[in-house]
Amino acid sequence: MRTQTRTLHNFAGGEWREAAGVEHIDDRDPATGETIARVPLSGAAEVDLAVRAAAAAQREWREISPLERARAVFALRDGLDARREDLARLITADMGKTLDEARGEVARGLESVEVACGAPTLMKGENLEGVAGGVDVEMVRQPVGVVAAITPFNFPVMIPLWFLPFALATGNALLLKPSEQDPLPSELIFEILAGIDAFPAGVANLVHGGRDAVEALLDHPGIDAVSFVGQASTAAIVATRAARNGKRVQALGGAKNALVVMPDADPDVAVPGVIASAFGCAGQRCLAGSVAVLVGSEAERERARRRLLDAAAGLVTGPGGDEATDVCPVVSPAARERVEAAIAQAEADGARVLLDGRGDGGAGGAELRPTVLEAGDVEAQVTREELFGPVLTLIGVPDLDAAVDWINAGRYGNSALLFTSSGAVARDFRHRVEAGMLGVNVGVAAPVAWFPFAGWKDSFTGDLHANGADAVEFYTRKKIVTSRW
Ligand code: NAD
Repeated sequence: MRTQTRTLHNFAGGEWREAAGVEHIDDRDPATGETIARVPLSGAAEVDLAVRAAAAAQREWREISPLERARAVFALRDGLDARREDLARLITADMGKTLDEARGEVARGLESVEVACGAPTLMKGENLEGVAGGVDVEMVRQPVGVVAAITPFNFPVMIPLWFLPFALATGNALLLKPSEQDPLPSELIFEILAGIDAFPAGVANLVHGGRDAVEALLDHPGIDAVSFVGQASTAAIVATRAARNGKRVQALGGAKNALVVMPDADPDVAVPGVIASAFGCAGQRCLAGSVAVLVGSEAERERARRRLLDAAAGLVTGPGGDEATDVCPVVSPAARERVEAAIAQAEADGARVLLDGRGDGGAGGAELRPTVLEAGDVEAQVTREELFGPVLTLIGVPDLDAAVDWINAGRYGNSALLFTSSGAVARDFRHRVEAGMLGVNVGVAAPVAWFPFAGWKDSFTGDLHANGADAVEFYTRKKIVTSRW
């Protein structure tokens, strides 16, 4: 007998509301394939209701002092902290990543909330006295208004928290449209937020859905700014449509990140660094390294290749909830099929499969063991396009110049990683590589929340990055007042 599966509700105007009359899809646990919730695919009516509630609440919220708003966000920080293990377990159940990875994600999300608590300092303006006889100029920052955050499946707690606390602390109202593939962690964030009286009803709203909900948001005249994270193709659609409709927009897109291994790299640092980068979260991170660029002579490259292959072959694939698991399932059976098709295409394009992880997908149909390819052609699709799965492709180049040229010829510019024991090589790499987030002797170069987060080139559209002082800039408008008294 089939047990009744819970249907998710939107949260708008301070109330949980059923999205009646819209289509629903199944939200499944990637490890088991079990349906854990039904997700409404909201449309224009649900979006409109939430935007109206947000606009009404924002008029009240912007009059609350920055200090009081920061205290409300601090209460959210405490509420999230008290439920951090519940949030982590929900991430594992809904998105699939291991519990360790999920706990790390929650910790990173909390850091963004903590930075946003500094909004009273970060929002301060500027002034200049006496620009002409008796004339002073001051610049104040004011909230943008009602902002939307549209988020991807791979960090269902951290990425909503790149936006929500900063938007609220700076006096905006927010509407979150989380990924329809794993919306349960967002629901818990909103349950926690709903319990904090300092947030007026309507200041934060949650609308479940997919493409229709996003399009309704982008076309709604009541939305003033859009923060987006997802695939590069979606980012381009969102950025163009938001800009055409006169909205401020930041759109963080996909990636294809290189891991450059120099011959002088310490193998005890480089090998675990490359392996964790390529196969952690089953390769489903925008900062995942997915091409190892082995630098040096044929003999040096062969040594690195052997070590990486041995390490990849030793990884354990399984459910994210099992302590022994290194490589979690990908988000869905459809994602596994897509990655397997890309591996087959790579083979057809001349790649050698050094380690083949393809199989039956395990209990939930979404497991894919680590796969290592050696590209025949360094410009093949597999070296240049994002796969978002546990697949590492190896290429070889003679020196650092060739590695940097190869990286800079790609269309993405999210991250690039270097393993070396030379400070001079590291400095040269830092100076010349065209990417927004670099790592030296670390496999995942995720900036801490006090710094901005975004890539370059096709990995990002907009000016202001997520997190840190950029978030405050993005969610505020500057007003300049020139006075003579
Ligand atoms: P996605 O683009 O499929 O979905 C992201 C969001 O957009 C979801 O909320 C989804 O409902 C919505 N959406 C999907 N298709 C749409 C369409 N045609 N029109 C309007 N809205 C649409 O992304 P995903 O698969 O959930 O996330 C993985 C991607 O996100 C990867 O490419 C990854 O590199 C990228 N990502 C980037 C960063 C970064 O910082 N640059 C961080 C995390 C993830």
